[in-house]
Amino acid sequence: MKLDDKVAIITGGGRGIGRGISRRFAAEGAAVLIAQRDPESAARTVHEIEEAGGKASFVPTDITKPEQVAAMVEACQQRYGRVDILVNNAGVSGVNGSILDMPLELWQHFLDVNLTGTFLCAQAVGRLMVKQQIKGRIINIGSINSFRAQKNAAHYVAAKGAIPLLTMAMAVDLSPYGILVNAIAPGTISTEKTALRLANETYRNMIAKNVPLARTGRVEEVAALAVFLASDECGYIQGATIVIDGGFLAYLRFD
Ligand code: NDP
Repeated sequence: MKLDDKVAIITGGGRGIGRGISRRFAAEGAAVLIAQRDPESAARTVHEIEEAGGKASFVPTDITKPEQVAAMVEACQQRYGRVDILVNNAGVSGVNGSILDMPLELWQHFLDVNLTGTFLCAQAVGRLMVKQQIKGRIINIGSINSFRAQKNAAHYVAAKGAIPLLTMAMAVDLSPYGILVNAIAPGTISTEKTALRLANETYRNMIAKNVPLARTGRVEEVAALAVFLASDECGYIQGATIVIDGGFLAYLRFD
């Protein structure tokens, strides 16, 4: 298996894309620690993984709180002795209004979770990897909004837009320790949450028209890419953000 004997922290690993990554990492032999706030979806995913014969556990964590992040990484070390892989997946998204009306609290919340949370988890895990001399992997989850703006989403776009450069900066700083840092930028992926949007015919038509592959992505497809970036097969990709969007960003429509 590709991740045998590895220990992976997946933030937001209980639902959506994170759940897909947790399940696939466990199926590849990793012990998975899910870090998020909601205990219910975390418990369900831990149960699914254990039923399938894998190893998983949950540490309640708000990634915007440095002390909770430190306690979560400490708990991982106590439980499994090490951390080999961090997937910074937890995020908040939404289309909430024009820049003209954006409340400062909402702007700050999106930056706190999507950007500062990524930094805090990477810093805490990076310090432990360096201390333990583990040539680990950090995978950040960006978005197609890391490269293109969307109406009424300045808070999300600004936070996700910083992910490719934060990934490069981390890669540069952590290269001397043999730690690889890369990012994944998904297009629309079918999850419990996007199912609501996809129930809308206008939205489905937008996907069919603007995505060359004419469909949404599957969490399993994102998880497969994360496995590759976390595995020993990947050794010379550093500081990259890999887009997984069915061709959406590649396609400039004029009709
Ligand atoms: P979901 O909303 O389904 O899940 C988000 C996860 O993040 C939950 O597990 C949630 O758990 C966790 N989370 C949110 N806030 C915090 C916090 N403060 N501390 C710890 N955990 C937190 O999201 P998706 O699966 O759709 O998205 C996952 C990632 O992929 C996000 O970064 C998102 O921006 C990105 N993405 C998703 C796309 C999609 O189409 N689905 C497209 C492009 C990017 P809890 O609330 O319990 O803490």
